[in-house]
Amino acid sequence: MPPTDLLPFLTSRRDDLVALLRTLVEHESPSKDAAALNALADRLTDLLRQSGASSVDRVPNPDGGDHLLARFDFGHTGPDAPKPALLMAHFDTVWPMGTLATMPFRIEDGRIHGPGTFDMKGGLTLLLSALTALRDLNLTPPRPVEFLLTSDEEIGSPSSRTLIEATARKAAYALVPEPPLPGGGLKTARKGVGRYTLSVAGIPAHSGIEPEKGRSALLELAHHIIAIHAIADPAAGTTLTVGRAEGGGAVNVVPASASAEIDVRVSTLAEAERVDRALHALSPVLDGTSLALTGRLNRPPMERTAATASLFEKARAAAARSLGLELTEGSTGGGSDANFTSAIGLPTLDGLGPLGSGAHAVHEHIEMDSLPLRAALIATLMLSL
Ligand SMILES: [Zn+2]
Repeated sequence: MPPTDLLPFLTSRRDDLVALLRTLVEHESPSKDAAALNALADRLTDLLRQSGASSVDRVPNPDGGDHLLARFDFGHTGPDAPKPALLMAHFDTVWPMGTLATMPFRIEDGRIHGPGTFDMKGGLTLLLSALTALRDLNLTPPRPVEFLLTSDEEIGSPSSRTLIEATARKAAYALVPEPPLPGGGLKTARKGVGRYTLSVAGIPAHSGIEPEKGRSALLELAHHIIAIHAIADPAAGTTLTVGRAEGGGAVNVVPASASAEIDVRVSTLAEAERVDRALHALSPVLDGTSLALTGRLNRPPMERTAATASLFEKARAAAARSLGLELTEGSTGGGSDANFTSAIGLPTLDGLGPLGSGAHAVHEHIEMDSLPLRAALIATLMLSL
């Protein structure tokens, strides 16, 4: 059966895709709720087996919800099996437990609303449905598939990062169905994300009796907030934002302490290193104050490497040939787990999720009719890449 039959098949199953998405959305899964995440991992284990998984391994996470690594052999076993394709999705959401009460799963004007529909239970639905469709249509991809499902992407992937990188090192390429660019474009470049905190110690003194003996930590910090923003190089894609600052205590005391939290976005590792050096080079302006800097680059930039560009070109040709779909690509300032796979050199296509908008916002939704087409796209890529 040629791959062009995927779309009619998945379109005929659209209601099953919607029902699967409903199951996932109505199982709330905040990043820090281990019990809820583990219960969803149980449910996902069943769903993976129903989709034809050859094995499902549970990777314990003592600090939160467990992760899952499923393998779909598609007949490729033994030492001569080709390198697997890596499919990657996270099943945590940013929404706290109980959000469903005010933001229930609902379908209105062709849109499916609810917490996590767009980021990224819609994408998870596509991966499960694409794998099921390949099995039901007896279509055999040229590679086995490793499907990694993680529970902590929305808090920076502290416990899954090593697992992601180890799995990526063995793979041929990665597909990630995070939300696409507006209009459905894939994401082949993402900025790297860093978080730093600058703490300032001053010298407290009475502001009326002996202000000359004090050194204001807030005044010192003010100098540095301006200096930090000056490190940015927007033309190179580098921005620094002091998103939060605090300091001082009583209004009649020269403030003894202050601090600022800094969000850093970079397009290249070279820029990440330049910013890191510049932040560490900050030194006190006022005599008698001192500075302490903590933090680092959390996610390396996903650079549009030659290997990713060539993977996209193959994907574009396959989508045009099999689905008549004109795939586009672009970049975004937001990070995802694709940053990790890409940074270790694995060609990676992200943004394969359903059309929609409102990730992390109350109007979060997906376009219902995009589910079959995007699932067919992912299945087509598994058959072609
Ligand atoms: Zn996401």
